[in-house]
Amino acid sequence: MEIRSVRGMSDLFGGELHQWSHVEGKIKEIFKSFGYSEIRTPVLEKIEVFSGTVGDETDIVEKQMYRVVTDSETYVLRPEGTASFMRAVIEHRLNSSGQASRFFYYLPMFRHERPQKGRLRQFHQFGAELINDASPEADAELITVLDQIYKSFGISEYQVRVNSVGCNQCRNSYKETLKQFFKPKLQELCEQCQKRFDRAAMRILDCKRETCRDIAKSAPLITHCLCADCKAHHEKMKHCLTKANVTFEEDPYIVRGLDYYTRTAFEFTSNLLGAQDALGGGGRYDGLSARFGAESFPAVGFGLGMERLMIALQEKQLLPETASAPVFFFAPIGEKAFEILYPLSLRLKRHGIWCDMSYDKTKGLKWFLKQANRVNAKYSLLLGDEELKNNIAVLKDMKQGSQENIPLASLENELLRRAQHAP
Ligand code: AMP
Repeated sequence: MEIRSVRGMSDLFGGELHQWSHVEGKIKEIFKSFGYSEIRTPVLEKIEVFSGTVGDETDIVEKQMYRVVTDSETYVLRPEGTASFMRAVIEHRLNSSGQASRFFYYLPMFRHERPQKGRLRQFHQFGAELINDASPEADAELITVLDQIYKSFGISEYQVRVNSVGCNQCRNSYKETLKQFFKPKLQELCEQCQKRFDRAAMRILDCKRETCRDIAKSAPLITHCLCADCKAHHEKMKHCLTKANVTFEEDPYIVRGLDYYTRTAFEFTSNLLGAQDALGGGGRYDGLSARFGAESFPAVGFGLGMERLMIALQEKQLLPETASAPVFFFAPIGEKAFEILYPLSLRLKRHGIWCDMSYDKTKGLKWFLKQANRVNAKYSLLLGDEELKNNIAVLKDMKQGSQENIPLASLENELLRRAQHAP
């Protein structure tokens, strides 16, 4: 029986991987220019990193975590980046300077969800986190970074939705107001939302079911329940976004799935994606460090789904050519030609020039040219008995079809020169 990969987890290779690397490289450059440095955390974490911190009633903790159980411990495959990041910050005291510090990560995440387009069980997230800065400017910076990432690829078909979920104080009173509102309608809500009612009433606003959405439409909005400080923070944050040329809209239904958010919450959605329309999202999570039993410090961050970015780029045909190609394809015919071209190909490679060559000594010219075409080489280089007799090699431009004789004595220099001019 053929053994296949786990459902919802993909192999990446060839042209597609080439495109991923290109996109990853560009995103890392953007993080660099905004002053974010990379952090990598392990795939496995102790379960406590997520349960009790992210929130026990969240979908991630309740239903989606992959557990790895050994004799003495239960570990989980990291379902999201922020809690792992926070565990690492506290463990290594990365917050100890008290100064604003910026981090980004690029890591696989694992969630046991029902796979569909744009929703996998192993997916990849870029994330950014800014700690030790409670200002609205910090929130707006994160949103600007995410905006810059999509813009830099030429994607403009997305909405930036922002909201404030308030602080503990205003949120608690809002939750009560919400519960009063939903109580008489409890039976009409979906089973999941009925469960949410007691401990996570705000998440009912986030439910994607039509019936729950319809009811939620007339629910009281957090916008009207924010305390003076949260309101001022939110207004300033929006002002900063305007100054940073980020087009956004207010969406009081953005509460994000996780418990740890405070004040700013945001989501980038796009109709390029289909049903799973969230490109990325994040928010402020000033309360998370305390949930780890550490001193409290402010933090704000976002997560961006790579698979969804790739779908958007594909839809808009903004991805680069699927494969890079060798500059040269060497075609040695006969033992003697092989003895010359084999070491030359290695020398060129040491110079950083991709020079392809088959080690099959039984093939003839026709086969070599076919291979050169197949791998899309810019030039092929032919060396056979006739050429050896005349102390030359024949260099063929595969696209233009033109060819020229190059003296063997200057062959290496000529190839180096041409490689420099190759696109
Ligand atoms: P979240 O941590 O759920 O806020 O997710 C942040 C981003 O990761 C989302 O906006 C998506 O782009 C992406 N994402 C979340 N879950 C998945 C999944 N199961 N498969 C692919 N991408 C996902």
